[in-house]
Amino acid sequence: MNVETHSTSVAVIGAGPGGYAAAFLAADLGMEVALIDPEPNPGGVCLYRGCIPSKALLHVAKLLSEAEESRNWGIQFGKPKIDVEKLRSWKDGVVKKLTGGVGQLSKQRKVNYVQGRAEFLDAGNLEVSEVSGGRRRLRFEHAILATGSRPASIPSVSLESPRVLDSTTALELNDIPQSLLVIGGGYIGLEMGTVYAALGSRVTVVEMMPGLLPGVDRDLVKYLHDRLGRLFESIMVNTRVAALEEADGGIGVRFEGEGVTKREQRFDEILVSVGRKPNSSGFGLEKTRVELDRRGFVKVDEQRRTAEPSIFAIGDVAGEPMLAHKASHEGRVAAEAIAGHKVAFDPRAIPAVVFTDPEIAWCGLTETEAKELNRPVEVVRFPFGASGRALTMGRTDGMTKLLIDPQTERILGMGIVGAGAGELIAEGVLAVEMAAVATDLRLSIHPHPTLSETVMEAAEVFFGQSTHVYRPKKRPIVA
Ligand code: FAD
Repeated sequence: MNVETHSTSVAVIGAGPGGYAAAFLAADLGMEVALIDPEPNPGGVCLYRGCIPSKALLHVAKLLSEAEESRNWGIQFGKPKIDVEKLRSWKDGVVKKLTGGVGQLSKQRKVNYVQGRAEFLDAGNLEVSEVSGGRRRLRFEHAILATGSRPASIPSVSLESPRVLDSTTALELNDIPQSLLVIGGGYIGLEMGTVYAALGSRVTVVEMMPGLLPGVDRDLVKYLHDRLGRLFESIMVNTRVAALEEADGGIGVRFEGEGVTKREQRFDEILVSVGRKPNSSGFGLEKTRVELDRRGFVKVDEQRRTAEPSIFAIGDVAGEPMLAHKASHEGRVAAEAIAGHKVAFDPRAIPAVVFTDPEIAWCGLTETEAKELNRPVEVVRFPFGASGRALTMGRTDGMTKLLIDPQTERILGMGIVGAGAGELIAEGVLAVEMAAVATDLRLSIHPHPTLSETVMEAAEVFFGQSTHVYRPKKRPIVA
């Protein structure tokens, strides 16, 4: 077959939040850009199979639980009737609207969107197998690798069965099983477990480590564990799945470990969410000088340049944390670096949010990291129980904490658990990035009554002068 060769200044491989942010900025900076991805529009995992469909479903889960809880305030709704087909098409509609909108933005910028899969021929040429069946060669000056990641599996207990789901198939919402086992107590497992529990499944979570959300500060996780303990059928920590087999119209599971209540159990379906793996093989990277680390992530420098000078890598394929906003930021850094700007990927605070109920969010230094680093910090906490806004919402199960340098009084990190934590954490990011001190937060007037006041009052706690928490004065406020 005759393969046509095209040339472009920048070829971006993968159109997730990293790839399309990079492509759009490169185009805005005047470069000729090709963006390659098998989907009909840009969006990647985040828009098609991750952040967006999961948050649409979590919104519905929240609505269901709020309707249920409103009993406590004298409002009683009937038992909800769930039309799974309609719910699925609403969720799909959200995805279509967003990816269609991003597709429009791509056209407006004259980005050459190629629907297909790219493979490296060498450090300056790609071959693209188009979804339509065609093939083309693309010569590039620079390439940005943004191929993302995919769900990991546990080879020792894998089972090919339509009853064994990963995050992608769980989001398809093909049915609502009566019982669901979630293997892995990370954020994706807990978010999807929350959705299925709200829709009526009896959900069990099994986690190998001693607690849910390994690595996250325990005081934040405790609030979530307490509430999920009521929502879920059971949570087993320090426990692993030793075997899976098709059994009795479901899946038979054998558990091992300290948390086992019953060694053998049967579930209608199983969701395996044990992490994600970078997409860094199978498309010719070995024909370039790009290097991978032990876990398969592409090695990059602070401008996100790989060991092959013409190739950059961003997003999930370039390492942790595997989050959409980190991918987009890296994408913009890479585009600017290609344009010759003096830039570096050097954040002080990459926020992380677990969109469960309550939400958990953190940024900057965490208490867990401070302990590991043996770094002296002062930690101050403001409980949602002392927040007027949290009381009006019936959601006093939360807390805002600040990690402060005891010498300089600089804000080093923030952690929040509670309603709205994901929206509130942005203030922490700004505080950490701007090198704000506790007094900056204390003296900034926050609107009343809002949950954002918990940030200001946590800073007041640092000086022993919070209006709504009595904690004897510890340190003088220097005017
Ligand atoms: P991706 O979004 O993974 O996109 C990579 C794209 O590259 C894909 O479209 C893929 O098909 C394409 N591709 C791969 N190989 C090739 C090739 N050879 N040629 C052409 N194209 C190729 N993150 C958050 O920040 N917030 C959240 O709330 C959140 N929720 C999530 C929920 C779930 C269920 C999941 C699975 C993930 C979630 N994430 C969330 C993580 C987030 O989706 C990723 O961090 C983000 O999508 C990474 O972006 P990326 O640009 O690196 O790549």
